[in-house]
Amino acid sequence: MENNTSNARQVLALKYRPKRFEDLIGQDSISTTLSLALDTNRLSHAYLLSGLRGSGKTSTARIMAKALVCENAPTSKPCEVCQSCVSANENRHLDIIEMDAASNRGIDDIKDLIEHTKYKPTSALYKVFIIDEVHMLTTQAFNALLKTLEEPPVFVKFILATTDPLKLPATILSRTQHFRFKKISDKNIVHHLSHILNLENIEFETAALDILTRAGKGSLRDTLTLMDQAIIYSKGIITASLVTEMLGMIDPVFMDKIFDSILKKEDIQPIVELLESYEIGQVLDEISIYLKQKMLLKDIKFELYLFDRFIRIIADSKQLLNMNSDSMFVLILTLSKMSEAVNIKTIDEVIEQVEKTEVIRQKKEAVSSQAESKIKVPAQEIQEDPVKNEIIVEDEKQVKFKKLISVIYEKSYELGECFEKSFTFSSYENNVLKINSAAEGECKAKLYKNFAHIKMFVAEVYGLDTQLDFEKIKKEPNKDMARIINPTVPVVEKKEYEKPLEDNCEQLTSCVASMSNVSNPTPAQQDLDMNDVLNSKMTSTALKLFQSPSAPRIKSKL
Ligand SMILES: [Zn+2]
Repeated sequence: MENNTSNARQVLALKYRPKRFEDLIGQDSISTTLSLALDTNRLSHAYLLSGLRGSGKTSTARIMAKALVCENAPTSKPCEVCQSCVSANENRHLDIIEMDAASNRGIDDIKDLIEHTKYKPTSALYKVFIIDEVHMLTTQAFNALLKTLEEPPVFVKFILATTDPLKLPATILSRTQHFRFKKISDKNIVHHLSHILNLENIEFETAALDILTRAGKGSLRDTLTLMDQAIIYSKGIITASLVTEMLGMIDPVFMDKIFDSILKKEDIQPIVELLESYEIGQVLDEISIYLKQKMLLKDIKFELYLFDRFIRIIADSKQLLNMNSDSMFVLILTLSKMSEAVNIKTIDEVIEQVEKTEVIRQKKEAVSSQAESKIKVPAQEIQEDPVKNEIIVEDEKQVKFKKLISVIYEKSYELGECFEKSFTFSSYENNVLKINSAAEGECKAKLYKNFAHIKMFVAEVYGLDTQLDFEKIKKEPNKDMARIINPTVPVVEKKEYEKPLEDNCEQLTSCVASMSNVSNPTPAQQDLDMNDVLNSKMTSTALKLFQSPSAPRIKSKL
């Protein structure tokens, strides 16, 4: 009964302090090595245990000491019943000397300790010196310790523990067997916490233990202290929301809501109001942790690039906080930037957009240059043609046909040439591509031979389901070029088209269409029309400026 009441008062970290090697949490390799050393009696005279606070260094040192003073020593399994084990468990064994170097760091303290090493153990086989936080010793103290540490009496064992082994002189490190304690994994800690709570008969939510573990930052002792607090605070059942409230953290459910609003680009004002009571630095930390979890869980709500953006925004905000900026302002800025970050296009999207624009531009140019160079209709005819503008507003179907031609050219120039010469676009509807064919002679044979390829190219451009339908016509292919550009262009009188391309060029002044006598020029032409440039407002203003008396003049050398 008495034992129970004293247990109830005892804090969890002490009550559940490991008493055996197998009780150590998350340090399997260390406990195995030390156990083997004890069982095979291959003991070093000095051990150095380093690692994060609360990772089990002091517990290990004490278990090791007990294993060295037990009546069955050295053994990895102290009997727990002999006088030595009992007094070791109660921290009052005369042959186990614990020193805290943080408060006894001077040379005199070490001299006392060295003096102790000269006397044989009172009852046990060994005399064990545990020096905690050994890195706190002064340089002189270290120097004084060196000699004894190197060659202590056979019955003396040193166990040094530190959170900061880098601060130890190399001379100390080289004289000890060094064991590095790992950070205890969150999973191990949660498991240990649930084990303790089950023993204590306390109900809990696993999410609450996750939060406690995160707050403990890998230190089992710190986490257990927080759990002590949570047990008192929750009065019966430990829930996630109670724990977050106790720690002043953000409830995970609320965090989900925050990010829902951000991802949906909703108004952030209500969130700001709710977060006002929190410490903003901590809010930023918790957002980072939240995002880290979401990333590990591969949450589909978050695109990968969003993590990158969010984390940069948080880093910037932390920097602002460090500069003592107004914390509310930082919070609003952070949330606004996050909201905004959801909108920004990815670099891939931007590239795709640019490429699209570029393709449309090229198509337009292709269509207008076709209009210039291939129709060979006298300028006046174009002038009066109301459908001229529609040539520029490209018809998707015909652009595709052009593409088909260029694809075939790419694969085989000769085949492309034949295709272009013999076939013209008629229509494309319900997945049926109608082609007018004027194929003759060699070309006809070639096209026939390569029909399978052509079908493949058609599928590539128009889609797999596309059917081909040929209609035999007996027309000059050149004439049909106009119809490729626009089927609505009337088939002009035969004689106009009878001559081959080269002759048409001679007929006109130049193969390059005249720029000045087309009253309705294409944009490409407009770009190049020098008269327009010279007559433009900007040019005339510039000219005026240069001609004005106040304009700078270049003086001659003489
Ligand atoms: Zn024992």
